[in-house]
Amino acid sequence: MAEVPDKIQTWQMVQPTSRNKETGEVIPGKLEKTTIPVPELREGEVLVEIAGCGVCHTDLGFFYDGVPNVSKPPLTLGHEIAGTVVAGDEKWVGKEVLIPAVMPCRQCYLCKTGRGNRCLNQKMPGNSMGIYGGFSSHIPVPSIDLCEIKNRGDIPLSHLAVVADATTTPYQAAKRAALENGDNVVVIGVGGVGQYMVQEAKALGASTVIAIDIVEERLKKMLSYGADFVINSSGKGPKDISEELRAIRKQHQLPNYGWKIFEVSGTKPGQEIGLNLLGFTGKLIIVGFGMQKLEYSISRLMAFDAEMIGTWACLPEYYPQILEMVLSKKVEIEPFVQTRPMSTIVETFEEAHKVAPDKRIVLTPDF
Ligand SMILES: [Zn+2]
Ligand SMILES: [Zn+2]
Repeated sequence: MAEVPDKIQTWQMVQPTSRNKETGEVIPGKLEKTTIPVPELREGEVLVEIAGCGVCHTDLGFFYDGVPNVSKPPLTLGHEIAGTVVAGDEKWVGKEVLIPAVMPCRQCYLCKTGRGNRCLNQKMPGNSMGIYGGFSSHIPVPSIDLCEIKNRGDIPLSHLAVVADATTTPYQAAKRAALENGDNVVVIGVGGVGQYMVQEAKALGASTVIAIDIVEERLKKMLSYGADFVINSSGKGPKDISEELRAIRKQHQLPNYGWKIFEVSGTKPGQEIGLNLLGFTGKLIIVGFGMQKLEYSISRLMAFDAEMIGTWACLPEYYPQILEMVLSKKVEIEPFVQTRPMSTIVETFEEAHKVAPDKRIVLTPDF
């Protein structure tokens, strides 16, 4: 049985990267190893000993790109967490769990009408839970939102951290798109989240999944994990991609209507491709985030009877279904995850911010 600590060891973001408004000089952000108190656990709260916390694009946005945290720094980042309950609510102690990246309030109108993933009072570790985040030895969380992990077989607990965010976001996106058997799907961007978008679309019954990316190796890999066809968009414009897709459609007698297009890259070129591919009765689902603006003739939506949909995070209620898909290997995580000691956080952030890694990095506590 794991011990209950006196202090939480953590890698705290003392300050994010900032810019001097007058001189434009970049002031580097600071991540610092420190200890923080274990709070008094209230009714319905538990303390989780962290086995692993994934490095998400969102963390890098907070640290490097001026995306503001709800709780002001200093705070610990990290919201993709798997671990073991070590204190609090008796019936949870000793259990292995996933902590949902977003925990709804369960009281408000949005929560009561099934839209709790976008609850405005939601709590997110490493963003809106005060100083607490996943790049730590432990974290206090409400037990009501936890997803218990049973029979994980040979999958290390730390690897399952990716289920808390990277694999759940695509599931919610698929729900938003009302994905069903026989659908034809395009996934733009097959990095940390897109890889699972492809696999889950297939697992949820899509008959055709086409993956688009600029990295050839990633695309090749996806052919073994759910993609029927791939298109390398490197150096090509949106029109070229539409042409390539049309050729695939013709060759395989696929319809020119009803395509569900998931834009996961969050990049301008990716979004331009998505807009260009959106056609009759189609849906464009925006899963990735970027700060850019695009131009689009929105009357095309009217002419196409088409939809554009945003999607945010994932309802905790879906976590058990997603975990089941992972544990039964309908959705594979092992080929898409790597672990590193948490003490490499500074270098790991630098590296991941420069080039998005092919395999999601999960940091394991080594305090
Ligand atoms: Zn995330
Ligand atoms: Zn709510």
